[in-house]
Amino acid sequence: MTSAGTNGAGSGPIGRGASVTLSDLEKTYDRANAVAKAVDGVSLDIRSGEFLTLLGPSGSGKTTTLMMIAGFETPTAGDIAIDGKSVVAMPPYRRNIGMVFQNYALFPHLTVEENVGFPLKQRGVSKAERAKLVAEALELVHLPGYGARYPRQLSGGQQQRVAVARAVVFKPRLLLMDEPLGALDKQLRENLQLEMRRLHADLGITFIYVTHDQEEALTMSDRIAVMNDGKVAQVGSPEDLYDRPDNRFVAGFIGESNFLPAIVRDLEDDVVVAECEGTLIRALCPGRPASGEKVTLTTRPERLRFADANQAGTHPQNRLSVTVTEAVFAGERCRYMLQAGDGTSIVLKEPSSAAIRRRAVGERAEIAWSVADTILV
Ligand code: ADP
Ligand code: MG
Repeated sequence: MTSAGTNGAGSGPIGRGASVTLSDLEKTYDRANAVAKAVDGVSLDIRSGEFLTLLGPSGSGKTTTLMMIAGFETPTAGDIAIDGKSVVAMPPYRRNIGMVFQNYALFPHLTVEENVGFPLKQRGVSKAERAKLVAEALELVHLPGYGARYPRQLSGGQQQRVAVARAVVFKPRLLLMDEPLGALDKQLRENLQLEMRRLHADLGITFIYVTHDQEEALTMSDRIAVMNDGKVAQVGSPEDLYDRPDNRFVAGFIGESNFLPAIVRDLEDDVVVAECEGTLIRALCPGRPASGEKVTLTTRPERLRFADANQAGTHPQNRLSVTVTEAVFAGERCRYMLQAGDGTSIVLKEPSSAAIRRRAVGERAEIAWSVADTILV
């Protein structure tokens, strides 16, 4: 167990993390006479001690948002408050924020110890205190005894851990990370994802993490803000976003989704009844669409089942007739491409079992799923 961050110098165990409030944040870059909004009205309340991830495709404004919080970019409009106090006019070094970037950005000519101690030296911390804090930070990232090495003598994963140690050595209350695992291979990335979570729990400070990798975001975050085109498309827990996407972008960007075109026929409390392929499908719906309105229903491939398969204890209400167009055995599950009446393609993923009959291409079938797994987007 390492817990250098929890009993080190500085504040007590409560409220160790900063809260961050973004209000109508905007950043416009001038590009050869045309103006482009990199960040377009982002409002977010990031809680003290939270692990919040900005998730979105390349160019959606994640880095620009992070750079404005850090103070390296100035907002065109809007406000950034840390612990309730606006920091827009405050230079980066006074915000006391730790930062980790994708390209490790270690100083190649400095040892690990000197790299990690650098922010302390800048802050005028004494040599003896520096040695103690550096040792604590290296222990925290599981690299005790690596102090005398140079960055080139470390693997990519180790270099990134040194970068994390350097970012937290001065005990910031907020850590910003921009795709810190982006350059690492899959296995190492997965290990470090778990380490980042542990580090977050050990330190108890606020993390704002940037990634374009939805699986990484789902694994690590308390909450995720999905960004698209400079705006927040939805913010919520991983479960919220996966089970109750607000819109088509989020449904398509996080996990795999089926999209079924339908026409609203009726409303029953919080359930909408829509016609799809001549069949009535029920879906959860936060709004109140009008009868006759054209809508899209979404559902996850692993929530669909063949209607005649064993469904102990479940009574899925939604059903649709389909034809199997593709059947792929993928070890732990079978993946089927299905076609509904008018040509709508549907993906169904079934956990594999020797006891379940596999479907053949060309076979007619009925699929079934529950209303709770059907969302109107
Ligand atoms: P992300 O990190 O999500 O990939 P960025 O915040 O880097 O997105 O970029 C958002 C948009 O702003 C992109 O269209 C990008 O080309 C543009 N952009 C970013 N930085 C600059 C800059 N310094 N000058 C001009 N345009 C920029
Ligand atoms: Mg970026």
